[in-house]
Amino acid sequence: MITVAQLKGKRVAVMGLGRSGIATAKALLASGAGVMAWDDNEGARRAAAEEAIPITDLAGLDLSRADLLVWSPGIPHTFPKPHPIAEKARAAGLRMVCDVELLGWAKPDNRVLAITGTNGKSTTTTLLAHVLAANAVAVAAGGNLGTAALDLPDLPGDGRYVLELSSYQLELIDSLQVSAGALLNVSPDHLGRHGGMDGYIAAKRRLFDLLVPGGAAVIGTDDGPGRAMSAQLMAMGLRVVPISVRKVLDNGVSAPEGILRDNGRPVCDLRDIPTLPGSHNWQNACAVYALARADGLAPKAIAAALASYPGLAHRQERVAEIGGVVWINDSKATNADAVEKALVCYDAIHWIIGGQAKEGGIASLERHFPRIRHAYLIGEAADAFARTLEGKIDFTRCGDLASAVAAAHARASAGEVVLLSPACASWDQFKSFEHRGQTFRELVEALA
Ligand code: ADP
Repeated sequence: MITVAQLKGKRVAVMGLGRSGIATAKALLASGAGVMAWDDNEGARRAAAEEAIPITDLAGLDLSRADLLVWSPGIPHTFPKPHPIAEKARAAGLRMVCDVELLGWAKPDNRVLAITGTNGKSTTTTLLAHVLAANAVAVAAGGNLGTAALDLPDLPGDGRYVLELSSYQLELIDSLQVSAGALLNVSPDHLGRHGGMDGYIAAKRRLFDLLVPGGAAVIGTDDGPGRAMSAQLMAMGLRVVPISVRKVLDNGVSAPEGILRDNGRPVCDLRDIPTLPGSHNWQNACAVYALARADGLAPKAIAAALASYPGLAHRQERVAEIGGVVWINDSKATNADAVEKALVCYDAIHWIIGGQAKEGGIASLERHFPRIRHAYLIGEAADAFARTLEGKIDFTRCGDLASAVAAAHARASAGEVVLLSPACASWDQFKSFEHRGQTFRELVEALA
């Protein structure tokens, strides 16, 4: 846990008592602050009260009496509609921040390496932490992924915090000092919360307002918004490191064919790293390389550490090889875009698909259907998916994951892949995508 000495004796309102809110309230109490915490959900309030967090109805409180409001980034405070407590706080001139900002107050001496983007944040964050740790750098990773900011370990002054930052968090951070930051990619997402694409891009752009003088701005330039931002920041004189997996860059980090290149010079072959399959992961590796270089590591040291990355659970995670059949858990792929990233990586696929359907379905994946040997449909989306697949791919309606795993085991032969990449939310049959992925792993391990 990290305490914030500046808040000793201050009155701090905490809005939202999820994972990060609870961690924040506890850290603030340990810092000697007076905490007034609230969540609109009664169950969340009860859980917090059980952890001795003082609950106060912030809607009924004179907010001019508070010194600070720590806001949970998941709660809308501007678009589509401001939460009434956010409106009240603004009217009272109360400063509103998220927990990551407080980490910056508490640990001003530690370098912060930060990652944002629409996709790949968790992979890049974990991979960078792995590369630093493999080179004997004290490091802690968290933020939007995994551990909440104030639940991270209190590192010595030369330790690095590697933070995954969402657009929601970036809107609530104003003085954190970032020594190098990466924006991986930008595609339309969460637009309702940001009042449209411009607002979303502006939130991502904030990462670079937080850079220390001379700090590196690593930017994915394979999409229009990234290219525009890169040009804009270069024109402003910032130290921009563009990254691309589409073309070789003479002044950046690139990996169009899987060969990672630094200013055009080959450094290592990413195709040899089984835990980083696909060009989307090469983009993540380019960002990690650029950030680690900016942090002072040598190219060879980074390349060696990339190769020993153990991978992240539920993202094209290789769980077993049984009789020459490789089993892959991609439970995190909850929409067609994410599934596509996996489908392009394998040639003969037994595809387990389904769950709670998302908008858009899987029709957009049709050009990859020739790679599919057979599909195994589970969950609520089975009927809808059967209509899309009819006449194009052989499929079996399996109902649940256990039947799908058994059916795929019976059908798949050596050299083929069984891929759980469901293109659906998990809520109809599981508690979460992690629960679905873990269940898959257990079913597969039982086969071995
Ligand atoms: P995030 O934390 O941003 O949600 P993750 O690293 O958890 O990202 O990856 C989630 C899914 O997004 C992966 O399973 C993969 O399908 C896809 N993905 C990962 N990296 C990228 C990338 N750089 N570009 C596009 N899609 C990606």
